[in-house]
Amino acid sequence: MRLTRVRVPELAAEMTLSGSEAHHLSVMRLGAGDPLLVFDGRGREARAELLTLDSLRATLRLVEEMPGTPETPQPVTLAVALLKGDKLADVVRAATELGVASIQLLVTAHADVRDIGANKLARLNRIAAEASKQSRRAVTPAVLPPIPLPALSWEGQAYVAHPYVHDLLADQLHWESPVTLLTGPEGGFSEAEMEALLARGARGVVLGPRILRAETAPVALLGAIAATGV
Ligand code: SAM
Repeated sequence: MRLTRVRVPELAAEMTLSGSEAHHLSVMRLGAGDPLLVFDGRGREARAELLTLDSLRATLRLVEEMPGTPETPQPVTLAVALLKGDKLADVVRAATELGVASIQLLVTAHADVRDIGANKLARLNRIAAEASKQSRRAVTPAVLPPIPLPALSWEGQAYVAHPYVHDLLADQLHWESPVTLLTGPEGGFSEAEMEALLARGARGVVLGPRILRAETAPVALLGAIAATGV
């Protein structure tokens, strides 16, 4: 039987849920004594049992902590340029399913969008939480407020997706240090941005000979990693 999975603020002997998570359980028509899975979004997962439920509040008992779905051997950060419309919602959903540890939004030279409101950022974080629930991850990546590209710092390896280079991610990626992946906006990275990134040690990688849309490139890059089996 596929158990219902809910995110809790913290794993504890007894846990209380309110708001949309409690509502979700009542919509699922669960009742006292039903088994569930709970996760805290920071890597901990457990079997639990529903003690009480109404449409506003649920109480759960922790039965047994268990290992969560494995994460990538090193954290992978997606640094993605702000995109027009609702395209980031799809990027955040797919990137969460594909295992990123965090998502850093970037303001870049050719971006049409230069800021994101607090409500939109909160919605992107809710989408990440929902996607981690669906994809059976115990970790929910944080979607971090936008920073200018020059302010991005990284530890370990950084790869910038760019149509006009020849190197492949698969030939360079290793799991000895954290990984940062950068993808540009609809108008691409400027020449000056590419030069600055390469001068700081990032490596350009290509995703085939076609120009991908700005919302496709992050998924293709992360898919290339997922296809190695991590
Ligand atoms: N006219 C833009 C240019 O010349 O760079 C195209 C930008 S593309 C729509 C948006 C982003 O997707 C790029 O900045 C890059 O990060 C990524 N991208 C698109 N196609 C790619 C490819 N074939 N290889 C690597 N990255 C690609």
